[in-house]
Amino acid sequence: MIRGRFAPSPTGALHLGNARTALLAWLHARASGGRFVMRVEDLDPGRVRPGLMEAQLADLRWLGLDWDEGPDVGGPHAPYVQTRRTALYDTALNRLADAGRLFACACSRRDLAAAASAPHGGGDEGPRYPGTCRARDPRPWLAPSDDQPNGGEGGSADTRPMALRFRMEPGEVCFDDLLQGRVCLDPSADAGDFVVRRRDWVAAYQLAVVVDDAAMGITHAVRGADLLPSTARQILLYRALGLAAPAFLHVPLLLGADGERLAKRHGAVSLADARAAGVAPERVVAWLASTCGLAAPGEELTAAELVPRWSVKRLPRTPSTVDDASLARLLGE
Ligand code: GLU
Repeated sequence: MIRGRFAPSPTGALHLGNARTALLAWLHARASGGRFVMRVEDLDPGRVRPGLMEAQLADLRWLGLDWDEGPDVGGPHAPYVQTRRTALYDTALNRLADAGRLFACACSRRDLAAAASAPHGGGDEGPRYPGTCRARDPRPWLAPSDDQPNGGEGGSADTRPMALRFRMEPGEVCFDDLLQGRVCLDPSADAGDFVVRRRDWVAAYQLAVVVDDAAMGITHAVRGADLLPSTARQILLYRALGLAAPAFLHVPLLLGADGERLAKRHGAVSLADARAAGVAPERVVAWLASTCGLAAPGEELTAAELVPRWSVKRLPRTPSTVDDASLARLLGE
């Protein structure tokens, strides 16, 4: 039984690029009679906005998607909101520390930028971590666990806020993506030891997504190709935690005519914009499907009507470009 998921972050309105990923993840699960899980990734306190979770879920339902488990419908793996799953992340951090894979890190972003040797080096998480704090004991910075009721060694003389980083071993990580084929990346070379819990004690995305996909029995993670470098890191976390990784399908991004990610462009069109403009959800579904080979431009069809058309083989492997005229037609301008 396939278990898929969509994991939105309530940091902004869902734009068409997010909606496309959600639609494809949903189609992948539904086409095989599988279950679909909605998980809200609200771990970034500085960026999460109140009310957006509800608005995002309402927009996805308007589009015609449904889910068997999620914050609004419950399910066997509740809660489905990451800020309420902290105890699970703490347990995983303790396990990583026991395996010698964590260290505490006092470096600020500024320290790291100053230490970066190459001006253009590094990956999607900034310059490669230079290893400054690798010898630092993580235990004073762990939450108390059953084995260590006082929280490791009972505090540290150093009161600076510390992040926890995952200790990397050099080498490539390879995996077979359902769409992209064999992908090999070396996360130790591009990001280096990465943060698994931030200085404000909030679990980092990389850790939370691994813990949650495993705990929720997710068999397939369908998500944007911008997350490929993260996947390599996450596979290392699955291994270190002794957990099975799901299969991955990374969907190529949607780009504007200028080659920039639609999602990142100023004024990206959101589902809420389309709704407010009176566009029918069937039109949005068909428009999204037409950007990935599943519908012809101008068609109208519901998400459910698209299910029989699902085929990984029809999906493009390279980013799709949409021009402003196509967006304007969608919005009926
Ligand atoms: N919360 C992540 C995002 O919105 C999703 C990451 C994932 O699907 O693993 O980008």
